[in-house]
Amino acid sequence: MSDTALEQPIDPAPSSDAPAPSAAAPWQREMQAAIRSLDALLAALGLSPTDIAVSAAAARQFPVLVTPTMLARMRPGDPHDPLLLQFLPRREEGLPQPAGYVTDPVAEAGMLRGEGLLQKYAGRLLAVATGACAVHCRYCFRRHFPYGEQQAGGGQWQGVLALLREDPSLEELILSGGDPLMLTNRRLAALLEPLAGLTTVRRLRIHTRLPVVLPSRIDHGLLEVFGHSPQSLVVVLHVNHARELDAAADAALARLRGQGALLLNQAVLLRGINDDADAQVALWTRLSAAGVLPYYLHLLDPVSGAAHFDVGEAQAKALIHALRARLPGYLVPRLAREIPGEASKTVLA
Ligand SMILES: *Cc1c(COP(=O)(O)O)cnc(C)c1O
Ligand code: SF4
Repeated sequence: MSDTALEQPIDPAPSSDAPAPSAAAPWQREMQAAIRSLDALLAALGLSPTDIAVSAAAARQFPVLVTPTMLARMRPGDPHDPLLLQFLPRREEGLPQPAGYVTDPVAEAGMLRGEGLLQKYAGRLLAVATGACAVHCRYCFRRHFPYGEQQAGGGQWQGVLALLREDPSLEELILSGGDPLMLTNRRLAALLEPLAGLTTVRRLRIHTRLPVVLPSRIDHGLLEVFGHSPQSLVVVLHVNHARELDAAADAALARLRGQGALLLNQAVLLRGINDDADAQVALWTRLSAAGVLPYYLHLLDPVSGAAHFDVGEAQAKALIHALRARLPGYLVPRLAREIPGEASKTVLA
């Protein structure tokens, strides 16, 4: 889940993560079986390029990546399935983009406090744990960064720990990415263990899509790693459509709640995917059934290649008002956008 663009992920042992086949955990075997090409994605759903205008060039620029779990939730034969459209490279990506669409929309070079480290907001330090994800979302602003390259060395994490030690105002450590849960349990344990002695760090927040797109990732070993952490755990999910949730996702989320985690969701408002009131009501209602409360509904970051997903601000505000009329207040997300230089995300409604 990307809340941030970044050069270098913090990854203490990048080169040695490829497990021997026998040592691979079930979630790693599932990743090995992921869909990694446009042709494979279309074939798996019984679709052909005559059903919807796809783009091989877009797939080269930002490769297709979909987990088997997510694929199984898509409707075969439906080129406009709201799950598929999040991951399908379409011809629109190559069209001229409106003014303001850039490759690094949240421009944050000045916010770096070290490699793979960002502080924009009071009290919260954000570390990019890895550049890898389990799925590639077409609207992601990290689509122009080199994915899957985990080039950082072990020194960066020492830098994180030093900053947290020096600055007691940093009460929250946010692991972002990419997706931090793409790191193995062993590596996560190595990152989190030294935090145990840092009593000024009260909260550990993890931004991740994995409990939903790869539920097997929430395994016993991961829960044990979290169990050893004295910080309170906040997991911010990224679910955009009610149909992303099923029994396997529910069970993974229940395992996290059983570990005491607070579960929140942030979605991105996406044209053709979740931009009507019925889809939004279904999304937040279904999430609440899984024990997940709303956090943000983000307006699209203006990343080059994603303009076809944009929903205008006026329509977005009207949507939030419609939700307020239909849902209890605690199931209505805050409509937000990131404006570089502001002291927080900007809440619009
Ligand atoms: C979005 C973001 C956060 C978290 O902001 P919240 O409003 O607390 O969710 C923190 N640091 C950075 C760099 C961010 O981009
Ligand atoms: S999971 Fe999707 S939105 Fe999150 S960082 Fe990866 S590609 Fe971007």
